[in-house]
Amino acid sequence: MRITRITVYHVDLPLEHPYWLSGGRLKFDVLDATLVKVETDAGLIGWGEGTPWGHTYVPAHGPGIRAGIKTMAPFIIGLDPRRVLDVERAMDLALPGHLYAKSPIDMACWDIAGQAANLPIADLMGGGSRTPRPIASSVGAKTVEETRAVIDRYRQRGYVAHSVKIGGDVERDIARVRDVESLRRDGEIVLYDVNRGWTRQQALRVMSATQDLNVMFEQPCESLDDIAAIASKHAAPVSVDESLVTLQDAARIARDGLAEVFGIKLNRVGGLTKAARMRDIALAHGIDMFVMATGGTVLADTEALHLAATIPDANCLAVWACQDMITLDIAGGRGPRNKDGHLHLPETPGLGVHPDEETLGDPTAIYY
Ligand code: MG
Repeated sequence: MRITRITVYHVDLPLEHPYWLSGGRLKFDVLDATLVKVETDAGLIGWGEGTPWGHTYVPAHGPGIRAGIKTMAPFIIGLDPRRVLDVERAMDLALPGHLYAKSPIDMACWDIAGQAANLPIADLMGGGSRTPRPIASSVGAKTVEETRAVIDRYRQRGYVAHSVKIGGDVERDIARVRDVESLRRDGEIVLYDVNRGWTRQQALRVMSATQDLNVMFEQPCESLDDIAAIASKHAAPVSVDESLVTLQDAARIARDGLAEVFGIKLNRVGGLTKAARMRDIALAHGIDMFVMATGGTVLADTEALHLAATIPDANCLAVWACQDMITLDIAGGRGPRNKDGHLHLPETPGLGVHPDEETLGDPTAIYY
């Protein structure tokens, strides 16, 4: 089987509610999505998606995905998409780094490989759990009252896991953590996501002031050096996501004990192939995981769900479904959707959901 054609679409995904990260530092209301259709000489078609969380969050650029695919396409055309390692190496040879540009191609290849094997991707990867995965909400950095309102909105949709964005204002962060914890329901999973918003002193002040609550914080500071510097001075479990980009990052975090949880974002780390190695490093070191696409449609959420399904139930804390935050549905309600706050693994071979192509507009490029 050979890849014969790659068709690239650019779709703007409007957010239902404008989004603030880290105390108003970053606000945006649309996500730049790249959808990729990979065709083969066997008639099988795979779909991939790469949707960074805006342009101002981390070094991942929507138009950069499309530029990267243009550069990599001549190296990918003609390869067997079922041989995902061959495709991975070809992309790494054609374009070192730029992992976020590679994840849509990797995803489409896994989709084709699953269809060819007549297995869902998670089963092709070695075996997918059918235990539904709780979906984590994403509660933007706002006031105490707004935080309550957003969490309530998600609770009404059945959500039992929440990623509450904090960072930037020590007193307000302490107040918000204390308020959310006072209202936390039995069985709810809450992660306080700082998105690199604290300096070291700010991190230590909030983490010390909330120590009695025994809560988890994600990416409290900008870098792994910062997180390492404060590690011995607080007792809170830490999740790392923005600083978890390469396999070398994962190895360092595990070896040096910099985090107790990995937040694996598939677009950021370069797709399923590379993320699966991070999963194994985590499991080998007693590190639990959140799994997310980074952003995007039901396709990206489904990709994340497949990886989450290959993690033992006890070690997979939650997934994140961006589909509930955007107002455009490119798959007409198909694919894994929120059911009582959980996503269920599709039994369809491959990814398990494809878009309605007419919702994507005209392609921005076709390579063959
Ligand atoms: Mg995060």
